[in-house]
Amino acid sequence: MLLQWFRQNARDLPWRREPSLYKTVVSEFMLQQTQVKTVLPYFERWMTIFPNFEVLASASVEAVVRQWSGLGYYARARHLHQTAQHFVQNPPRSYRELLHYPGIGSYTAAAIASIAWNEPIAVVDGNVVRVLARVFNDSEIFTSKAAAIVWATPHAQRLLDKEHSGIFNEAMMELGAVVCTPTAPDCKHCPIQTLCKAFREHTVELCPHFHSTPHFKKTVDRLWLLTNKKLLLEPSLIGNKQLWELPELTEERRERFSNLNEIFRAKRTVTNTTYTEVVYQPHSSTNGNRSEAFFEQSPFEGCRFFPITELHAVALSGPHRRWIGEILKDGNTDEG
Ligand code: SF4
Repeated sequence: MLLQWFRQNARDLPWRREPSLYKTVVSEFMLQQTQVKTVLPYFERWMTIFPNFEVLASASVEAVVRQWSGLGYYARARHLHQTAQHFVQNPPRSYRELLHYPGIGSYTAAAIASIAWNEPIAVVDGNVVRVLARVFNDSEIFTSKAAAIVWATPHAQRLLDKEHSGIFNEAMMELGAVVCTPTAPDCKHCPIQTLCKAFREHTVELCPHFHSTPHFKKTVDRLWLLTNKKLLLEPSLIGNKQLWELPELTEERRERFSNLNEIFRAKRTVTNTTYTEVVYQPHSSTNGNRSEAFFEQSPFEGCRFFPITELHAVALSGPHRRWIGEILKDGNTDEG
């Protein structure tokens, strides 16, 4: 019944149309730590620029990272590039071989091996954990997502339809993503409702049980300085990759302006900390006569102006590309 439900209800995703090993590999790399709706435009563009392993393998790292710009976690782009080179030279044939590839852990290896080769390995992500925790209505309290995956893996492996491993894994993940959701699951239309212990015992909202972890809050102030249609950016080392971001508004920098207006505010959560990012713009009279060079020396050392028409070619961090786009779209900025 799960497979039949999936065949009738699966979302129409580009990597499911005329599926191939290459599409599976690219989509699994992109979907690591990134939501489907964010991945969609990147995947479509990627396929036009790098349509197969051969083209991707022969591209430069810079070109690959540039196309990844905005998706975050840039090590994935480099690992995907290296993986494509391995696939071209010496194609892997199994889950175990995939585990030796850069950036491929047990989850991604299981997804690729089962979907591309129908190898009978269960895929366990957060969606599958949630479905299984509810189906079994287990009272275990998990200290982390990793601990929950360790608990769920033997259950998932036992339930796996070994004749249809790939589609079964996809169906389980899809069920967790669109029906058995964290809040307000659609139990009424669930294909496995009759098997679900939590549904029978009215404990759906309580599963899975996680230990609450400490949560921290931090506010980061940023500077928006647009002059002569150029935007001031600051380099930031994220992982081992240098990306550009809106400059942080330290106390020392703040003192350079007599009047700052808040123009944008956004929240983002990284592990156990929620950051409130607030972007300020100096009043136009504050920096009217200052040269670009003024903002490229202490306390702005490292900062550089980039023409806004060329930002698409700058390696911006994902959230900053989005925020800059939103600020420019809103149009409530002025030039200094
Ligand atoms: S019946 Fe509800 S809780 Fe149980 S698996 Fe289906 S959607 Fe999830």
